[in-house]
Amino acid sequence: MKKDSSMNPNLKLHLPPPEEVSFAFITRGGTFIDGDLLVNRDGVRIVSQAEDESPPPIKPSDNHLSLADLDSIKVIGKGNGGVVQLVRHKWTNQFFALKVIQMNAEESRCRLVAQELKINQLAQNPYIVVCYQIFYDNGAIFIILEYMDGGSLADLLKKVGTILEPYLAAICYQVLKGLIYLHHEEHVIHRDLKPSNLLINHRGEVKITDFGVSAILASTSDLAHSFVGTYTFMSPERISGGKYDNKSDIWSLGLVLLECATGQFPYTPPDKDKGWEGFFDVMLAVVELASPSAPEQFSPEFCSFISSCLHKDPQQRSSARELLVHPFIKKFEHLDVDLAAYFNDAGSPLATF
Ligand code: ATP
Ligand code: MG
Repeated sequence: MKKDSSMNPNLKLHLPPPEEVSFAFITRGGTFIDGDLLVNRDGVRIVSQAEDESPPPIKPSDNHLSLADLDSIKVIGKGNGGVVQLVRHKWTNQFFALKVIQMNAEESRCRLVAQELKINQLAQNPYIVVCYQIFYDNGAIFIILEYMDGGSLADLLKKVGTILEPYLAAICYQVLKGLIYLHHEEHVIHRDLKPSNLLINHRGEVKITDFGVSAILASTSDLAHSFVGTYTFMSPERISGGKYDNKSDIWSLGLVLLECATGQFPYTPPDKDKGWEGFFDVMLAVVELASPSAPEQFSPEFCSFISSCLHKDPQQRSSARELLVHPFIKKFEHLDVDLAAYFNDAGSPLATF
């Protein structure tokens, strides 16, 4: 089913010039357009959803997505808790990301966990990944999410190494908008802000996902392994087991930005050759050491932004609202940074067969 790209302005975003299309189509033999899915040698990328030909797209409120109606296309990611697949809805041709978390607990407990996770479904905001449905079935929790075709910020970082300040400010602006919604409108704390929970797409959008997921799962004893991993973006007050609030997410945001700017997790192990001995050593470092700061090579505005996020005393940390008008965000506002082009040039790391 080859489509004429000139008919749909959205297609222009991704298609190379026409001569390249035919070149790629003939000689590489791997490029074709099937429905709204543009598949080339590098992988899969959604170009548009054909609103004119398909039934109306499914809305988050529809609540009638069933697994039987979803065709699995490929695995696009793996976390500690589960596997994420790109799936297509058979009747509307809509794409979704399906996260499957294999549970190892009693059914009643799993149903409760699925219920708790439904908090993700309530959020409706342009800066939050849409969560269409969450349910428990046959030993696993299924989460149907909006598909973000650029993958996560962690995927992007692997590709680009570091992110320059103007792009970082534009990314951060969107994350702050999402956090303002969560903190000040929904009154929820994300609790697991990290590069892999910030998703991007070809439109240059950045959206927050997975709030509360790891914390809720970790509260199920069988899933305590959800905390396995070398790095943590968790605030010192959370690690210490004390009370924590919105400001805990601001700490995580500071570490995420610092990692994006420098290309490295902001804490270094005592013995660099040996690396971190374990997760608890990293947690100890976060609690005991002075806060990390941005190296001098970065702009004073960026350094100030980072230190506003990384006060060890949560009360001294800025709020998401305050950070949205911080000079670091304001500095690049007039540049109209084109994140769509930036993400597209970096290429989708998810898209490799
Ligand atoms: P952890 O399990 O420790 O929280 P994680 O966030 O990487 O780690 P997942 O949430 O399972 O684990 O996500 C794994 C990967 O799947 C992400 O890094 C991202 O590349 C991809 N992914 C997750 N959700 C989506 C989505 N909605 N659209 C596109 N890709 C996604
Ligand atoms: Mg995640």
